[in-house]
Amino acid sequence: MSVGVAVLGSTGSIGRSTLQVLARQRDRFRVVAITGHSNKELLAQQAAEWKPAFVGLVNGGDKGKGNGTSCLVEAATHPDVRIVVNGIVGAAGLEATLAALRAGKRVALANKETLVMAGELVAQAAREGGGEIVPVDSEHSAVLQCVAGRRPTELARLILTASGGPFRTWGAERVSRASVAEALKHPTWTMGKKITVDSATLVNKALEVIEAHYLFDVAYGDIEVVIHPQSVIHGFAEFVDGSVLAQVGFPTMELPILYALTYPDRVPDQGVRRFDPVAAGTLTFEALQPARFPAYVVGREAARLGGTAPARFNEANEVAVQLFLEEKIPFGRIAEVIERVLGLGAGGSGRGTSLEEVLAADAEARRQAQEAACS
Ligand code: NAD
Ligand code: MG
Repeated sequence: MSVGVAVLGSTGSIGRSTLQVLARQRDRFRVVAITGHSNKELLAQQAAEWKPAFVGLVNGGDKGKGNGTSCLVEAATHPDVRIVVNGIVGAAGLEATLAALRAGKRVALANKETLVMAGELVAQAAREGGGEIVPVDSEHSAVLQCVAGRRPTELARLILTASGGPFRTWGAERVSRASVAEALKHPTWTMGKKITVDSATLVNKALEVIEAHYLFDVAYGDIEVVIHPQSVIHGFAEFVDGSVLAQVGFPTMELPILYALTYPDRVPDQGVRRFDPVAAGTLTFEALQPARFPAYVVGREAARLGGTAPARFNEANEVAVQLFLEEKIPFGRIAEVIERVLGLGAGGSGRGTSLEEVLAADAEARRQAQEAACS
């Protein structure tokens, strides 16, 4: 019997890559549910190709606020679904992740924002319902592949790699005025707009540090980031004896997606470019310079504060990135807005252990970010 899969955000970058992987693995998996947000045409095309039992369009193709969480939850908890690939961008993916875990499903998680917002709640939902989270994010998939089969007590330290984004070699002044087109020109990955901007500010890497903390139960002091412009090594895991394992490959999301579907097993797949060390050429590493990436620094501070601070960090960033993409604020203001919101108000005082508390922190940060952006 093939395994039923729900693909939340099937019209997005992760969603499309997931369907590409599934198209090569039709004897192992079948698509039971798909959801889209506003790309009605592509969703209809996917529905015609895959004939899933459930097709959900969150926003009816209209701009404005979606009414979608119920449709995402319905897809995620469908009785024929064993694995939910969560490829939603941003906070909108939270309730579906919680519902899937409570229903005992595996969540193949690309939607890192929700783990950042509500790491404790997500862990609790998994415990209660018997579900599990398997990361799709390439760095976390790399770490999982390095630690699979080891005891948690053997793991000492994680090093996540970051490409450094399009502005790695730019001066601070030029970066602060960077255009939307420049921010969307990622050197090594083709992804959705929000994560591409997050990769230029390195907010993405701060989100990933928090994601790694929750996934692997490693203290923040033991999670490091190194700039690696070629994006060939995706992550390192150091063990207590000092030995270090890394996972290597040309950048593609299809491998981490497939691994999240088959973990802990591996299955034959011919879809991705085979690794060739000579073609990969010289691999280089640089220390991350905090002064160049102020939003990353705020993210690490939010992590240290804990409680609802990561949720506030995430939401402030979502607002700021949206405003930047709409050309309402310059690139340099993204970090400023986030800094202002984190400096204001509740900080880490909320514990973030109930959904109400997390959603309230999220809503407050949204208001504060909008105000900070206008002032
Ligand atoms: P994307 O913008 O290409 O796709 C996002 C998907 O979410 C779309 O299908 C869209 O329809 C849906 N969506 C958007 N807003 C929604 C809402 N309010 N309600 C319901 N659905 C909504 O983004 P992406 O690049 O595929 O990224 C998705 C997630 O995966 C993000 O959390 C990102 O950080 C993470 N991720 C992406 C990549 C990548 O290579 N693209 C790599 C690692 C992690
Ligand atoms: Mg990543």
